[in-house]
Amino acid sequence: MTGMVWLVGAGPGDPALATAAARAVLAEADAVVYDRLAPPELLTFVPDVAERHDVGKGPGRHAASQDEINELLVRLGREGKRVVRLKGGDPFVFGRGGEEAEALAAVGIPFAVVPGVTSAVAVPAYAGIPLTHREVASSFAVVTGHEEPGRATSRIDWAALARATDTLVLLMGVATLEETARKLMENGRAAGTPAAVVQWGTTPRQRTVSGTLGDIAARAREAGLESPAVTVVGEVVGLRERLRWFDNRPLFGKRVLVTRTRQQASALAELLRAEGAEPVELPTIEIVECVDRTVLEEAMKRLHEGTYAWAVFTSENGVDCWFRHMQERYYDARLFGRTRICAIGPGTAGRLRERGIIADLVPERYVAEAVVEDLLFQGVRDRWVLVPRAAGGRDVLVEGLRGAGARVDEVVLYEAALPQDGGSVSELLRRGGLDVLTFTSSSTVRNFARMAGDGLRELGDAVVACIGPVTADTARELGLPVHVVAREHTVPGLVAALRGHFTEEVRR
Ligand code: SAH
Repeated sequence: MTGMVWLVGAGPGDPALATAAARAVLAEADAVVYDRLAPPELLTFVPDVAERHDVGKGPGRHAASQDEINELLVRLGREGKRVVRLKGGDPFVFGRGGEEAEALAAVGIPFAVVPGVTSAVAVPAYAGIPLTHREVASSFAVVTGHEEPGRATSRIDWAALARATDTLVLLMGVATLEETARKLMENGRAAGTPAAVVQWGTTPRQRTVSGTLGDIAARAREAGLESPAVTVVGEVVGLRERLRWFDNRPLFGKRVLVTRTRQQASALAELLRAEGAEPVELPTIEIVECVDRTVLEEAMKRLHEGTYAWAVFTSENGVDCWFRHMQERYYDARLFGRTRICAIGPGTAGRLRERGIIADLVPERYVAEAVVEDLLFQGVRDRWVLVPRAAGGRDVLVEGLRGAGARVDEVVLYEAALPQDGGSVSELLRRGGLDVLTFTSSSTVRNFARMAGDGLRELGDAVVACIGPVTADTARELGLPVHVVAREHTVPGLVAALRGHFTEEVRR
């Protein structure tokens, strides 16, 4: 049985620019072969059991040669695996994807190509440089600045190229930029033509140096720009001044610590990345189920009988755990048929919606006090209320409801425990470089403080941002200075508050 190899374009760096097709084949892969230009975030789509082969340069390791990569792809294919060869940008644009395809074709291993968003187009776009523009440029060419070393005569016709198109895009050409610029000028391109070099485009590390064909090489060298970088030559470069949109966003380049569970971190990380920030994920909670079976069975039975007037969900994790228990017992959403449902905030409500339930009540302020107030208004005196919750959470909700005469069944489902593999926090803090710390619940702060220990004093001037007042209070109690509290207590609200904070800072 032979397998199959997919030559997949990973896009230029921003993981959001990987295509749906790329994500789909990654999710089905038995083996993935990648190098440094493939965004590491994309590997999270690969099943845990899949083989991972890093063929790029690494600490104390040479990059694999093209022959070795070809052999590896052939071997994995022959083993009957579904192999993804993940390549930066588009696999057939200077990625030597064509050579890999030839090697597979030669031995009869089936393959397919998943095109990607090439850096040649996307990197200038993230720098605010359109490659064509009405009345400025109506053509562009993509050229390698790095010919195979040792080639006697250049295959690139610089004389023709210097004037053939309005815009020139050079890949792999930082080291040779001086020579390339000279060749272009010798062949008739004006020294005053605007030019820009963009390093690590589409990522939070993006850096751009602008100048003219005459001085761009010197400027790039002074600024220390290195590979990977794209150089654009042509009048369109002048548009950047007006069209810059990515590297001037308030959160651009900020290193932001994300402290939710591993599974939940991705939503916040994705939003941050869309703002140009660099999320640094440090899971501080691990959901450990700790349910008392008897209590749970009794609650399920009462739910089935329609005893509860209300069920109150206070976290996404609570929804997940509760529904897992329901499904184990072959119940579906109809179990809530006679019970009204309250979600503490939009995140929790969204999780319920995924399971076919539209919450009857989401208080305007996403805190336990507001839940109590609103439920009292709904008239819960003498009625039964189900509260699935985390161990050691706040008692405001349960006590408030009981105090008002409701009969509350609490079902403790899980504990927000310390992760097993969280040893590296103090090192992370010591290495520094964190611009922002985010906290989305009291338990994330508490666990973070425990994991950080003395390191807590080495935060420098990092901005501490909390999802709401309760989380902020916990942070302050633990001695953390709180700079930002989200007005809307949701993950998008937290990102918006950070954006606001840094916009203000720019104005000041
Ligand atoms: N197949 C890739 C190109 C591979 S050649 C594509 O379609 O994008 C490698 C070159 O691509 C690098 O030397 C650099 O010039 C360019 N490149 C790739 N990713 C880049 C990035 N994020 N920022 C700047 N240049 C990048």
